[in-house]
Amino acid sequence: MTTPQLRLYNTLTRSKEVFVPIDEKNVRMYVCGPTVYDFAHIGNARPVIVFDVLYRLLRHLYGKDHVKYVRNITDVDDKINARAAERGISIRDLTEGTNRIFQEDVKALGCLEPDVQPRATEHIAEMIAIMQKLIEAGHAYAAEGHVLFAVPSMADYGRLSRRPLDEMIAGARVEVAPYKRSDMDFVLWKPSRDNEPGWDSPWGRGRPGWHIECSAMSWKHLGETFDIHGGGIDLVFPHHENEIAQSRCAFGHDVMANVWMHNGFLQVEGEKMSKSLGNFVTINELLHTDKFGGRSWPGEVLRLAMLKTHYRQPIDWTVKALEEAEKTIKEWRRLLRGASRSNAKPSENFIAALSDDLNTHAAVTEIHKLAVASKSPSGEPYDRQTEMVGCLEIIGFDEFLKELPDQDDVTSDIRKSISEVGAPKAGIDLKKAGQLITARLEARKAKNFAESDRIRDDLLAMGIQLKDAKDPVTGELTTTWEVKR
Ligand code: AMP
Ligand code: ZN
Repeated sequence: MTTPQLRLYNTLTRSKEVFVPIDEKNVRMYVCGPTVYDFAHIGNARPVIVFDVLYRLLRHLYGKDHVKYVRNITDVDDKINARAAERGISIRDLTEGTNRIFQEDVKALGCLEPDVQPRATEHIAEMIAIMQKLIEAGHAYAAEGHVLFAVPSMADYGRLSRRPLDEMIAGARVEVAPYKRSDMDFVLWKPSRDNEPGWDSPWGRGRPGWHIECSAMSWKHLGETFDIHGGGIDLVFPHHENEIAQSRCAFGHDVMANVWMHNGFLQVEGEKMSKSLGNFVTINELLHTDKFGGRSWPGEVLRLAMLKTHYRQPIDWTVKALEEAEKTIKEWRRLLRGASRSNAKPSENFIAALSDDLNTHAAVTEIHKLAVASKSPSGEPYDRQTEMVGCLEIIGFDEFLKELPDQDDVTSDIRKSISEVGAPKAGIDLKKAGQLITARLEARKAKNFAESDRIRDDLLAMGIQLKDAKDPVTGELTTTWEVKR
């Protein structure tokens, strides 16, 4: 079977499309990152996990060195100013501290670091350059220390969100201001008072609006157009719509990114988990306190709980979902005992599932199937285990996999030793023998002596004599063997 084509749902076209990178030697993805004013909640964790899986899949399909993933850090925002003032600390201390915790949190969730994590405050020059281009082209104007994007100047504004014009006007009216030419115009730059963070610009000392930040950072690190842009579904309007308006009008292209992907919400009793509703659980408290179900939860459990649902579907947050995910992980851990990370290769069905618009639900089901097959007395248990490890690598169970030995594992050790003592000469089926020895060791550990004795007799019939021992230091049960001649 050949590698399946990757198909992704594109919010721009409202359809699943075959993914064709602009340059397959340099596949480029941008995802909107956190505004670092407070702990991230587990709803914020969803896009981080979802796009981490996509990043890993792209690396698998195109090669690690051919994918560039950029996730920004928004470190200038009025929420940041307000929170720093409230806590009586500097903005820099607040954003540094919050970002450090965010990085630790998402690492614990098994997420790889993106290739670049640009900070908005380090890209003011690029923002100014974009605003200048927009003003020159008649798509933006300066007024009273502000720079505004002139929405009516863009014929197909609204293509991503497909909102009716009157709805967009009503939404934009929230920010009524005398200096706006049209109600729909949005702010690119605004003046700062002395006690607010600000940068010198051709329009006076001021600070950027949120949307312009992502246009500047994606341009700097990925270019004028790139392959994939992601974020949560709430970002479609106005944030992504406005990013598109800024970048397309500044650079004169038909698209900013070819594919726009959006994850569904993590919900609490049918409502979006959010700071403003106060119904949120932070990643940090889930990992480090016993507030939920009377205990803390490892990151991989939250990760699996999220990935059991397709990324575009809503998820209802429950402790029960965590318990189920943990049960699954325990079972995988048991079934992988003795497996190795070397030669890991995901199964074709698994890659096919992920390639179908990141169907992690089907991908997790495939891992289950491999787990069951790896224990079946017939078949190719070693290959199934190897495939399972390969799959787990791609959906990011790194910490969990670190527990597996890197080199020769117990099973291959058994196989190697048998072959060294002349099993081929004795006509012994190595695969079967190794499998039986492992199964018997497990039966013995589980104190299932009847099963253990039965397997011992089977092995004897094959010409293999077992000798049991206990490791004097660790107390671990071990088995040695020799071929009867
Ligand atoms: P924010 O800090 O609100 O800009 O959110 C950061 C990222 O988390 C964005 O991609 C949001 O779309 C996403 N997000 C926020 N709340 C949720 C939620 N309840 N479920 C899923 N994604 C969310
Ligand atoms: Zn953004």
